[in-house]
Amino acid sequence: MSKMTPYSLQCPYCGHTQETMVWASLNVTQDPELKARLYAAEINRFDCEQCQKQTFINAPLLYHDMTMQFCVQYYPPEALDDEDFHRHFNADGSVAMTGLPASFATSGEYLTKPHIVFDMSEMIRYVAFRDHVAEANRK
Ligand SMILES: [Zn+2]
Repeated sequence: MSKMTPYSLQCPYCGHTQETMVWASLNVTQDPELKARLYAAEINRFDCEQCQKQTFINAPLLYHDMTMQFCVQYYPPEALDDEDFHRHFNADGSVAMTGLPASFATSGEYLTKPHIVFDMSEMIRYVAFRDHVAEANRK
């Protein structure tokens, strides 16, 4: 399921406050149009109605492809300096199950092993990589 929440955010350029949708997860199997929006860098972008400037909203984002059974998790790079952040993972880098919805445990092991990135461009590159690999293997 794709998840977004409206937040009241302030433009860093002009100080204008407006409601903006912040995405926490993109399920491209259920909402295929979100993939194009990710590629166009429209996901988690603040488009200021007043000064027209655009700002990236630096929030964690999960990309989930149920058909190809993989997911990519973006975390802001600042998370690497946060000791609490590292406690959410097992020693092998997989996601510790505590705090995750129970559906994660039953719906597929791949969900506990997202490909983790700290850069949105890298998320897009990885998705493109998986698409190309799938394409190559279909031939
Ligand atoms: Zn503005």
